[in-house]
Amino acid sequence: MDTGYLSEAFVSFQGEGLHVGRRQLFLRFAGCPLRCRYCDTPDSLVRGESFVVHAGVEERRPNPVSIDDISWAIETLGVPRRSLDGTAITGGEPLAQADFLVTLLRSGVLPRPRLLETAGVLPDELSKVVEEIDVVSMDIKLPSNTGETAFWDEHRRFLQRAGHKAYVKILVDLATSDDDVHRATSLIAAAETPVPVFLQPITTRKASTLIDAERLSRLFDVARSRLQDVRVVPQTHKIMQLR
Ligand code: SF4
Repeated sequence: MDTGYLSEAFVSFQGEGLHVGRRQLFLRFAGCPLRCRYCDTPDSLVRGESFVVHAGVEERRPNPVSIDDISWAIETLGVPRRSLDGTAITGGEPLAQADFLVTLLRSGVLPRPRLLETAGVLPDELSKVVEEIDVVSMDIKLPSNTGETAFWDEHRRFLQRAGHKAYVKILVDLATSDDDVHRATSLIAAAETPVPVFLQPITTRKASTLIDAERLSRLFDVARSRLQDVRVVPQTHKIMQLR
């Protein structure tokens, strides 16, 4: 597929997970099959008629976009490749447009390494792009705090296909149940290769987290009883008031 739908393009510092602090080109894809209760990118949930390039001034351009349109957006952002640590492909759910994404990745316009941020529920779509991706940042969605159904089998198959490229983020707040964290971490423990895991306190735009220290410690203990590499990292871009 030659065209796709974006929500926005910008350059910022990665606020989450294994590559936190790295300066990346962010391409936010539009459209997502889920509706997590805590979703902090509501503007990316459906495919809109246009997308925004956050350069010095905001430029709005029509959707759907071609590879040339994305090259133009990258040029407009004006940050030299040598001062970027690659691309964060985020959403919405980028894998909902896997056929376009694979065309984009093969075009070579995106700086490497290419980090895919995904809800981790579309394993068959991941298979189409995984060879072109360097790092897979997948969520494991917990029904106790998403308000969605459980995706245990989808997550298991997704993790299998992502292999050594994967790390996992598990978003936690006061609604998160021990049982869900137990189930998620058991699934990760069964993976063939060790997977770094980030318990990520859901963080508000006012930089407070939606969980207290006692509860966070408890969930950490549940995770750590099955896994070696578990870290607690909030959404640091919100603390820094970044996009
Ligand atoms: S998967 Fe991500 S973009 Fe989609 S609803 Fe959940 S938090 Fe929002």
